Amino acid sequence: MQTHLVSFLLTVFMLSTMPLSFGQNNNAATAQEILKGLTLEEKVNLVVGNGMNISGLLVAEGEDKVPGAAGSTHAVGRLGLPSVVMADGPAGLRIAPLRDSSGQTYYCTAFPIATLLASSWNTALVEEVGKAMGEEVKEYGVDVLLAPAMNIHRNPLGGRNFEYYSEDPLLSGKMAAAMVKGIQSNGVGTSVKHFVANNQETNRTLVNEIIDERTLREIYLRGFEIVVKEAQPWTVMSAYNAINGTTCSENKLLLTDILRNEWGFKGLVVTDWFAGENPIAQMEAGNDLLMPGTPQQKQALLEAVKNGVLDEKILDANVLRIIGLIMKSPVYKNYPYSDQPDLEAHAQIARKAAAEGTVLLKNKGALPITDPDINIAAFGIGSYDYIAGGTGSGDVNEAYTISLVQGLENAGYKVEESLKSTYETYIKAEKASRPPKRFFFELEPPLPEMPLSQEDVVPFAQTTDIALITLGRNSGEFQDRHLEGDFYLTQAEQDMIASVSEAYHQTGKKVVMVLNIGNVIETASWRDMVDAIVLPWQGGQEAGNALADVLTGKVNPSGKLPTSFPVAYEDVPSATWCPGKEVPNGKVKMMGPIVMGKEAEVEYGEGIYVGYRHYLSRKVEPAWPFGFGLSYTDFDYDNLTLSSDTFKDQLKISVTIKNTGSHSGKEAVQLYLSAPSGKLEKPSMELRAFGKTKLLAPGEQQTLEFTLMPRDLCSFDAEGQNWLAEAGTYTVKIGSSSEQILLSEDFRLKKDLELGLTD
Ligand code: BGC
Repeated sequence: MQTHLVSFLLTVFMLSTMPLSFGQNNNAATAQEILKGLTLEEKVNLVVGNGMNISGLLVAEGEDKVPGAAGSTHAVGRLGLPSVVMADGPAGLRIAPLRDSSGQTYYCTAFPIATLLASSWNTALVEEVGKAMGEEVKEYGVDVLLAPAMNIHRNPLGGRNFEYYSEDPLLSGKMAAAMVKGIQSNGVGTSVKHFVANNQETNRTLVNEIIDERTLREIYLRGFEIVVKEAQPWTVMSAYNAINGTTCSENKLLLTDILRNEWGFKGLVVTDWFAGENPIAQMEAGNDLLMPGTPQQKQALLEAVKNGVLDEKILDANVLRIIGLIMKSPVYKNYPYSDQPDLEAHAQIARKAAAEGTVLLKNKGALPITDPDINIAAFGIGSYDYIAGGTGSGDVNEAYTISLVQGLENAGYKVEESLKSTYETYIKAEKASRPPKRFFFELEPPLPEMPLSQEDVVPFAQTTDIALITLGRNSGEFQDRHLEGDFYLTQAEQDMIASVSEAYHQTGKKVVMVLNIGNVIETASWRDMVDAIVLPWQGGQEAGNALADVLTGKVNPSGKLPTSFPVAYEDVPSATWCPGKEVPNGKVKMMGPIVMGKEAEVEYGEGIYVGYRHYLSRKVEPAWPFGFGLSYTDFDYDNLTLSSDTFKDQLKISVTIKNTGSHSGKEAVQLYLSAPSGKLEKPSMELRAFGKTKLLAPGEQQTLEFTLMPRDLCSFDAEGQNWLAEAGTYTVKIGSSSEQILLSEDFRLKKDLELGLTD
């Protein structure tokens, strides 16, 4: 005992006096021992990041090891703690691609956006994407990727919806868990964000969201709970917004009680960049690391500990978790990163994922285009100026983006040349005439669609065999989308669709719409004019090749919607409440001369009725329902089997899917559960499991298995503060979409089931 004490004291003494160079004696001291060796200043330095370079506004401490990364932690060289580098983001690593005149480049792969990945309903695929993304993180010398982002698609105008997976928490949680597993398999960290309910960009830094507890737990927290329990991300990023009066990064209920104590989160909590106002409250809430970090935060914390306002034990707990993360990081292990990840292999993964997440919404005999000798006319500026992904921190600096037209040409298809050169000239001129961007995060307005009358189109309808029209939309951090000209089409776009459809249909030819969008748009007013609608979302740098794979039938589309498309904006359940009201004479958050947000309040008045939970329960017809997507083949669903007609500890369910058509294909199968309404009101049904078949050849079949656990039957009972499943008859519904329930079977729950908060 005594020898242990002596050697421990000796270690502490040595640590506090001797400089340790990185990579040496890395395993000699435990996190606890390192903590003991830190001065108060060093502890404070560790919980506050190194700052951030924003041209003209802020300067980071020290040199950027990885230019373009979002931030880093403070190094304590004498104790062998290196600086850990953090970089965005959800669609791939975001760093500066060019650094000096050496000619070396640092491009990263732009993978498909999260909404597309969720459309694949394929967790194995998403894990593979994560693995590739994580390899770039590690090989470019970054330690933590600020991804995945997993807020809920509450409203189609949400500027960052493209970074998020779905309107459904189960699908979001499973996708994020797969992504975290893939990225972290490289020995680098993730930061699941934004915890919680950063569902709008309008006033995001100062908006107070009024959310009832059941809604918060079932809809907005549930996905995070899944990812924490299934994948243990290294970090969670607390959101800018406040929930019920307390800013997320200062919210002990969220960060300590729920995240750590209820769910067992072992990692550390990082603020969103510049989030929150009170560093002491942040520390006390369990927000370990303040990013990117400011000198003012350091000063405030130092004084607070010295004056006894902040208990040093709280600081210590946070520092300990930071040391724990540093000790796991590649930089601590002296990983010799190459700056040469396998970009070619990753491009192939990006292409595969982009094709698998493409959703076929409509097909009246127009697709696939199997004859390579036909002449294709590509209309819409989007066909040429294709969008790989959204803007802001979710944007990736990729080396190239393959457009639809390039993709078709790469596949050996002919695209009408004179139309192509007209569009290219128009796009060039429009781009040249725009004013330069004022800030890096400024979202440039979309280029106006090239005006197109029917007379312009008629000659092409005579000389070409099929028309493709691409509609593009972009959005990103800092601002929500607009209704006019964004959710709804512009007049020029409507005219283009009408002219092309009319001219091509007069000559007996088909028209295919391509939606190169990051978020939901209005489709109901024009969808009858065209023969096919393909939704390839924003597919990353290989988007055009992947889209050509689908259009030509090389890949049979198997994507299904992770989010409902409403007929009109007013049908969206949150439309009444979003984006909330500004508080008269309220606070204003500035960064230099830029207004970052105003104090505001938004009610989550629709409660749990988000997306399909609303459309189905309230019988509002969406334009395209959640879970919907067509294929070039047909599937038969059969043999739904439940392990019992009474629920005990769990229930096993199986169903057989057979490819009855003539193309090979995959099918995403959805399991919904309808529960009896009693004390708690229930939505008409909720997604409780899903699976995807392998590639089934014509005639081939596969049996998919699912398990329902007690929690899957429950809703949150705010009054009882527990999860409650009420006795009665439950119905398992197996669907090819939320509106196409093909098989169903009942089981009984004999008595009420109550689960505690930690169960
Ligand atoms: C975004 C985060 C991002 C961070 C660092 C913030 O503005 O909300 O998602 O990770 O910046 O770039």
